[in-house]
Amino acid sequence: MKKYAIAIHGGAGTILRSTMTNEKEKAYKQGLEDALLAGDNILKSGGLALDAVEAAIIQLENNALFNAGKGAVFTHDGKNELDASIMCGKTLMAGAVAGVQHIINPIRLAKTVMQQSEHVLLCGKGAEEFAKLKNIPFAKDDYFFIQQRYDQLLSMRDSDKTSLDHADDKIENGEKKFGTVGAVALDVNGDIAAGTSTGGMTNKRFGRAGDSPIIGAGTYANNNTCAISCTGHGEFFIRAVVAYDISCLMEYKNMSLHDACKLVVNDKLVKMGGEGGLIAIDRMGNIELPFNSEGMYRGTKKSGEDLFIAIYK
Ligand code: ASP
Repeated sequence: MKKYAIAIHGGAGTILRSTMTNEKEKAYKQGLEDALLAGDNILKSGGLALDAVEAAIIQLENNALFNAGKGAVFTHDGKNELDASIMCGKTLMAGAVAGVQHIINPIRLAKTVMQQSEHVLLCGKGAEEFAKLKNIPFAKDDYFFIQQRYDQLLSMRDSDKTSLDHADDKIENGEKKFGTVGAVALDVNGDIAAGTSTGGMTNKRFGRAGDSPIIGAGTYANNNTCAISCTGHGEFFIRAVVAYDISCLMEYKNMSLHDACKLVVNDKLVKMGGEGGLIAIDRMGNIELPFNSEGMYRGTKKSGEDLFIAIYK
C-alpha cells in the first residue's frame, strides 16, 4: 500500500490544561478529529493532497471554536476579515486571499484563485468580486457573529492593543491562543500540499494581514522538500519567512525535516520573540508538529495508523 498522511492544527498559544474545562477540551478534540477524517477520507480513496488539505480546513472553518471562517475574530470595526492560502508541492502553484468578508470558506476561494486565475494573492473587495464571479458561497454578517468573540473585541476595542499584544492578554476560557487553522498532506501519488486559514487577530485595524495568506511565510509546499502551515504571531512569521526557511534548510543545507523545524521554531523564532508553531510533512510521510508556545491544537492521521490528537506540551 502506498503511504498517505495528513496533519492539521487549530492554532497555538497559551493553552493550559489547568484552565480548560473537560467539555471544551472534548469539543476541540472532536473538531480536530472531524477535520482529520475529512482529509483522510479523500487520501485513502486515492484523492489529491491538495483536496485533502482543503477538505480538512473547511471542517475547521465551519467550526465556531476555531479562529477561521465562522469562528473568525472581530476587527476593530466589528467586522470579520479573513485570510487564507493554499499551495501545491507538485506544481508550486499557489493561491491566497487577504482581508475578505462574508466568504464562508476562504480556503476554497484561495484554491479557486490558484486554479482559475493567473494570480496568487487577491485582497479585499477585489477578491470578493472574483468570488462572486466564481460562485463561491457568501454569508451575511450574523453567520460570523459569535458572542464570545465579540466580547473579546469589546474588552480591548478602546485600547490600541490587539490580541497579539499578549503581554497584557487575559487568559479566557483556558486559552490565550492564535486560533488559525491549517493542514498539510501527502497523497498516494507522493505529492504534498499545504493550506492555512485565519480570522487574524482581535481588534486588528488598517487592513492588517498576518503570515497566513503570505506564501513562504505562513504556508509553503514543495515536493522536493516539505509542506508547511504555520500559526502564531504573524508579524514574526513574515519577517522570519518561516515556511520557506524550513524548505530552504532542507534544500540547500540537506537538513532533515525534524532538524529544520527545530532550528526555525525552537531557536530562530524564539530568539526573535516570535511565539507559535507549525505543522510539516515531507514526501516520505514524516510529520513534525513543533511549537514554542504552551500548546497547539494538533492532530495527525497516517495510513495504517491510528489518529493522533493533542493540545498541550
Ligand atoms: N498567524 C496568524 C496571524 O498573525 C494568527 C494565528 O496564527 O492565529 O494572523
